[in-house]
Amino acid sequence: MALRTLDSLGPLAGKRVIVRVDFNVPLKDGVITDDGRVRAALPTIDHLIGQGARVIACSHLGRPDGSPDPKYSLEPVAQRLSELLGKPVAFAGDTVGESAQQVVSSLGDGDVAVIENLRFNAGETSKDETERRAFAEQLAALGDVLVSDGFGVVHRKQASVYELAEILPSAAGFLIEKEVDVLDRLTENPERPYAVVLGGSKVSDKLGVIEHLLPRADKILVGGGMLFTFLAALGHKVGKSLLESDQLETVKGYIATAKERGVELVLPVDAVMASGFAADADHVVAAADALEDTAFGADGMGLDIGPKTAELFAEAIRSSRTVFWNGPMGVFEMPAFAAGTRTVAQALTEVDGLSVVGGGDSAAAVRQLGFSDSSFGHISTGGGASLEFLEGKKLPGLEVLGWA
Ligand code: ADP
Ligand code: MG
Repeated sequence: MALRTLDSLGPLAGKRVIVRVDFNVPLKDGVITDDGRVRAALPTIDHLIGQGARVIACSHLGRPDGSPDPKYSLEPVAQRLSELLGKPVAFAGDTVGESAQQVVSSLGDGDVAVIENLRFNAGETSKDETERRAFAEQLAALGDVLVSDGFGVVHRKQASVYELAEILPSAAGFLIEKEVDVLDRLTENPERPYAVVLGGSKVSDKLGVIEHLLPRADKILVGGGMLFTFLAALGHKVGKSLLESDQLETVKGYIATAKERGVELVLPVDAVMASGFAADADHVVAAADALEDTAFGADGMGLDIGPKTAELFAEAIRSSRTVFWNGPMGVFEMPAFAAGTRTVAQALTEVDGLSVVGGGDSAAAVRQLGFSDSSFGHISTGGGASLEFLEGKKLPGLEVLGWA
């Protein structure tokens, strides 16, 4: 079944529209360090303003424990939203209390308000369905309809994501619509060849994704910290590199499954070995079957894919029509070990087809390395939510909007 989209709500002029967004931005001393998530919510909010709706934006921020905590106030976000929209944004100092009710009742058509952090209320994330429902009823009293657009939380059964969408007439906003459209193309009928590039720190974080995408992809490329568990599974020594010994059997299983199904598993042929985990560590390139044959011996630590591997990956990526990439190829936070991630990111920008970057650190990596968001087909805003989607899991926040 398809997602209910904005048009399914009918004309919205004069209606009180609650928009559940993901304004969970990084803050430092009360200042927003990256407003990407606020920008990602603009298309839907702009559209609602254009329709003459009375917009009530709500979100979580951080993890306050169910009661007000000034550190996690959405007030700076409301200010940023006002700057980005170029119009005033009212702010309510509570979520469903007097302030919220008063702010909402003073909204005119096309006006925008932000109410305080949803997670200042224990009902938002309560494990108890009755508590969640009670809080959702209070939220529902503020609006006539719900537009759900916080993709980063759709894998959570929380009051504003799930119960509220049951109580009010509800539909997905443009961000959720786009995320679902793109992620669906990565799981159903991707244009071929289809390459999946995996990296990051741990195999154990990515088991579900590997399992779900292995039978769907034509090529799987493995870099990042997890590559060492794959190389160890082939019988290579990896020194002090990240190794998840308890995943060796699982990884051997993946190698066998890939062979059986004719999926090309592209493993590194070289890696950058360092004297230790430090930005200024000595380092040298070593072949994948000789990682301990460097000056560092068995103390060497692999912190990036090597240049030959990076080229091999880039070629496999460029020759694909659909590419999904999750997980940096190395410790990109340290410039000496960012080259593999940069080469892979560059190759994704050259794909003739759909290229998608998923994962919080991967998105941060491409931005830090100076790539613009628009050079990729899509950068997913939801780390956990996109991974769970790609694992084939049912996401409550999407199911409640009609997705099945
Ligand atoms: P994402 O958030 O995109 O899903 P992960 O959280 O799985 O990505 O992994 C990101 C982290 O993996 C980065 O902080 C990076 O430094 C780390 N990483 C990548 N390669 C290695 C490696 N060889 N050794 C240790 N850590 C690594
Ligand atoms: Mg991460």
